[in-house]
Amino acid sequence: MNKHDVIIIGAGLSGLSVAHFLKKARPDIDLLLIEKSDRPGGAIRSQETEGFLAEWGPHGFLDNIEEARELLDDLDLGDEVQKAPLKKFLRYICRDGRLKVLPQTPPAIISSNLLSLEAKFRMLGDLWKKPLSHEQTIADWAAHRFGKAILPIADIAVTGTYAGDIEKLSIDAAYPGMRLLETEYGSVFKGAIKSRKGKARTGMPSMVSFKNGMGQLITTLATGNDIALNSAVWDISRGDDGWYLETDTGGYSARNLVVALHINRALPMLSKLTAAPDQSVSEAIVYNVVMGFDEQADIPYGFGYLAPKVENRFALGSLFPTHMFPGRAPAGMKVLEVLIGGTRNPEHLSLSDDDLVEIAYADVSQLIKLPQKPLFTKVLRPEIGIPQLEIGHSRLQDYREKVETDFQGLYVNGFGWEGIGVNDMIKMAKRSAENLLKGVGGTRGPATVKGVYF
Ligand SMILES: Cc1cc2nc3c(=O)[nH]c(=O)nc-3n(C[C@H](O)[C@H](O)[C@H](O)COP(=O)(O)OP(=O)(O)OC[C@H]3O[C@@H](n4cnc5c(N)ncnc54)[C@H](O)[C@@H]3O)c2cc1C
Repeated sequence: MNKHDVIIIGAGLSGLSVAHFLKKARPDIDLLLIEKSDRPGGAIRSQETEGFLAEWGPHGFLDNIEEARELLDDLDLGDEVQKAPLKKFLRYICRDGRLKVLPQTPPAIISSNLLSLEAKFRMLGDLWKKPLSHEQTIADWAAHRFGKAILPIADIAVTGTYAGDIEKLSIDAAYPGMRLLETEYGSVFKGAIKSRKGKARTGMPSMVSFKNGMGQLITTLATGNDIALNSAVWDISRGDDGWYLETDTGGYSARNLVVALHINRALPMLSKLTAAPDQSVSEAIVYNVVMGFDEQADIPYGFGYLAPKVENRFALGSLFPTHMFPGRAPAGMKVLEVLIGGTRNPEHLSLSDDDLVEIAYADVSQLIKLPQKPLFTKVLRPEIGIPQLEIGHSRLQDYREKVETDFQGLYVNGFGWEGIGVNDMIKMAKRSAENLLKGVGGTRGPATVKGVYF
């Protein structure tokens, strides 16, 4: 059996990013990716149908994380990169059955008309509220620091990322940078201002995608890599001189092993080495109902809108790629992508395509002036769910550090260990690659403070 320097299990964004950073540092490295499905990319998949380009998973990522900017620069995709600056593109929140512009930063929220004067004063309570000592849900934490009126805004920030529940997600695990501002500076507002001091002003970030959608990132990253497709790994073991893997397509061995999987795929695998405290985390599945219209569709200029739970609507929200990323609909047409399900409405996922289209159209057309009926529809039903970093998640993060420390040559990253976004994956992947080259494991990344989170 040929022994590789490195085997990476999983050719999603995480695995491919680890491969990128390893090869960048050591171009001669003997590296193999092993992938269960018949294509790389995992949750990232773009689909073009009848001239409409839509996404099964992420629509983009913000260029406010150093590691992701580095990756983007390395790939040198030039004009293929599409950037939608937050400063120019508005986001909307559905409140009282209408779309309202959503301010992007805490000072902008305070100066907006989205909150009453009393609620704005209460937000300033953040300046003197003592940090809560133990792990908090996002809802409890946000209500303590800013008052309950902020909860619908916290809800949509979470809906737009985790498609999850603010009453279950942990602020410590899901937004460690926010928690850091509170614990280090005593207040999120003070921390946001002080942590920016001395740093170059970068302004508002942009949402990044590519002319052929997010799938183009995967195609580019996958090029030149040795990937064994259709090879589910079902056993890993450590011998005296490295790692052994059993897969659908035979056995493999390597000196170093990177497990770059969704946390719920990694936990059963790692448990064979040493028992994990939990076997899985909750997941949020989000379907995308894609609708094409003629030019009469009066889609507001911006990224899209999100609806908080209190609005009790069918759709979680809708994205406006027509404005964000031009070229995703045939000439003279416009496209809307309507998000359904999440942890809020998992029952909607069992509806037929026809029902999803009909109910989603009826819901969205109450908010946006749309023609009688869509001229194109397509329902995308991803099977990969967004892992939920709920209260108690740090047990799993501690477990991951312990496994990496106890088992030499093992590196673990991927969807749901330390965050869920594209940026989080690239950041973790870079650290795994650096640790592997240094031969050290068991490190958790420092919390990153960001000006904009979703
Ligand atoms: C609906 C949805 C919308 C999203 N929207 C956004 C967004 O707008 N912005 C953003 O930043 N992020 C978003 N994300 C998150 C983003 O997609 C993820 O951060 C990223 O794709 C995770 O990549 P990964 O490689 O860690 O995991 P995955 O994508 O899950 O890839 C893991 C790979 O491992 C393979 N695999 C699994 N088991 C095995 C096995 N036993 N053996 C071999 N291979 C195996 C899988 O087939 C898969 O290819 C979204 C995710 C979803 C699901």
